[in-house]
Amino acid sequence: MNLARLISETAAKSPDKIAIIFAGKTWTYRDFDRQVQDYANTLDRLGIKKGDRVAVQLPKCVEFLFFHFAILSIGAISLPLNPDYRPQEIVYFLTDSSSSLFVTTSEHLSKVRSAIQHLSELKILLKEELLPPISEAVPLKYSTGDDDIAMICYTSGTTGRCKGAAISHRNLITNIRALHKAWEWSDRDILLHVLPLFHVHGLNVAALGCLYAGATMIMFEKFEPRQVWETLASKNCTLFMGVPTIYQRLINEWGKLEPQPEPTKMRLFISGSAPLSDQQFYQFENITGFRILERYGMTETGMNASNHITPEHRKAKSVGFPLEGVEIRIVDRDGNDVAITEVGEIWIRGANVFQGYWGMPEKTTESFTEGWFHTGDLGFQDPNDGNRLYLVGRAKELIITGGFNVYPKEIENVMESHEAVKESAVIGLPDTDFGEKVVAAIALKDEISTTAEELIAHCKSRLVPYKCPKQIFFVSELPRNAMGKIQKNILAQQINTSLQGNSPYENL
Ligand code: AMP
Repeated sequence: MNLARLISETAAKSPDKIAIIFAGKTWTYRDFDRQVQDYANTLDRLGIKKGDRVAVQLPKCVEFLFFHFAILSIGAISLPLNPDYRPQEIVYFLTDSSSSLFVTTSEHLSKVRSAIQHLSELKILLKEELLPPISEAVPLKYSTGDDDIAMICYTSGTTGRCKGAAISHRNLITNIRALHKAWEWSDRDILLHVLPLFHVHGLNVAALGCLYAGATMIMFEKFEPRQVWETLASKNCTLFMGVPTIYQRLINEWGKLEPQPEPTKMRLFISGSAPLSDQQFYQFENITGFRILERYGMTETGMNASNHITPEHRKAKSVGFPLEGVEIRIVDRDGNDVAITEVGEIWIRGANVFQGYWGMPEKTTESFTEGWFHTGDLGFQDPNDGNRLYLVGRAKELIITGGFNVYPKEIENVMESHEAVKESAVIGLPDTDFGEKVVAAIALKDEISTTAEELIAHCKSRLVPYKCPKQIFFVSELPRNAMGKIQKNILAQQINTSLQGNSPYENL
């Protein structure tokens, strides 16, 4: 089964139903399907074939969705890219994936043009210069096997190199079916969509969930807390999805609203991508009367676990229970199951689990044991509550800031490419807004001086903004253990102590 064809079949059931509302315009399911066919015809005319990679770097817009499903419909592979990626990052993604086509805007192209000009085989399609649709769009028929790759989603990598998670049509379809059942989606749902479309949360969970259900999606380009509260109430929305940072800002906004909104049709506020604190869980419920439903997933596996649809069965700090078709094990360092209630690494198996990292067979092999994917997340199950799953941390050195993943190595590499930096260590510090914020400790070379501002600017020109350190702490040397390994836990303590003592943060 081809995912795009599945959506087309849904569209055929209620062609006059409104599928998307965006920037004051409305698209019915007939419009949506027709647009996807038009775009697929454009891709065909450009010579894009089954299995070709098509990178899409667009700001949040409906055309992003048309392209994505058009790419899938012809059996090509969609590669969604963050519009904030810097030229150096774009070159890496286009090269690593050997993309045939880069879909972008003229504004983005002007920033990246010189960096990609050596990619002589790469075709470029500008959103503004789409070919006029042919009079009668011909539905393109490419055979797509269930295990064919539908998309490659790049995630931050432990080694500093981003990894492309190759996700199949079967992965996406089985996962969305499981979510539909768990969250009781229907064509009566109205989803308010404020998440980015280049990330699995906004694309494979929120947007796909809506289109698969034949429901309506009100899409905003940016998240504005006041606008969200007003729209949830005035447009009779039933569903909302966000990361904890979004919920924190909705909580902060609530007290400022007069009169307070009454989103009476809302049935689910869903949170994921980062830990929702119990404070956020209870505060949101106390002020709004709604209990947030927390779920757990990742790029490589789609959604793994979710709290129950009935509010009484949702618990703070718990991500609930495995979704249908998802198997979970909790193991120790040797890969043996831990005793129940003990903390270990979460391993996942099921039709939701991705096909491997694009062009990284060794990385793929080391991420699996007999079909079980090693998530790098630490958790435990509560046998007194039906083996309810709790996440407690990460075995991997991952920072999650505002719902986005950052592996320190990538930022350290960029820091150390600055001529004044001898060595660097990047860590996440707790932050009420972002959950964690990226900060860097830097030891400078004796002979060259620099400032925190200069180092941050150095990162900003090479890395997407959410990966850039918010603060720099200069140190004479980094704490190391006897093996010479940097002790980031000690570094974090030193930084916290320094912050509490109100010492100037640049001088620990
Ligand atoms: P991503 O691949 O960007 O979706 O990030 C996946 C990672 O986000 C997971 O491996 C977890 O570490 C984290 N994550 C996702 N959902 C949750 C959650 N509900 N609570 C805590 N961490 C989460």
